[in-house]
Amino acid sequence: MVTAAGLAAARAVAAAVPDPELPMVTVADLGILRDVATEGERLVVTITPTYSGCPALREIAHDLRRRLAASGFDEVDVRTALAPAWSSDWITADGRRKLSAAGIAPPHAAPARSGPVPLTLTLTLTRREPVACPRCGSADTTRTAAFGATACKALFRCESCREPFEHVKAI
Ligand SMILES: [Zn+2]
Repeated sequence: MVTAAGLAAARAVAAAVPDPELPMVTVADLGILRDVATEGERLVVTITPTYSGCPALREIAHDLRRRLAASGFDEVDVRTALAPAWSSDWITADGRRKLSAAGIAPPHAAPARSGPVPLTLTLTLTRREPVACPRCGSADTTRTAAFGATACKALFRCESCREPFEHVKAI
């Protein structure tokens, strides 16, 4: 049996796995790690992919198995949960701070998908919000490419400090 202490240790190991595309944040920071549980002798780790088409999921699953095995967990199932779909709103406050510190503008609040939303909020969300430069804070920025190094990111240039930077898209 996996003890409660063992499960807590497994959670900590899983939570520390870095995202392959945004290595400054962990899968827990990004909200990719949904659950770590036990089924008999097995450890079951549930992850939700971020942006559709991100090929990082296999790499994350491999990294999870490798690190958990190194901590003594040999029987590990990594499962993918597609519903509910991942939202950039799941990125933690810590994760947003780490992205900013690495020069990547974190996403705005994602557009509401369902449920009643006050009209003013809807109007705010449908307007394209300016992406602030993570270096100087200026909102005078221009998107230069819809896709950066990965589909998750767009490329921007700051018109104040002239520096290019990446922005994690809100979905
Ligand atoms: Zn700037």
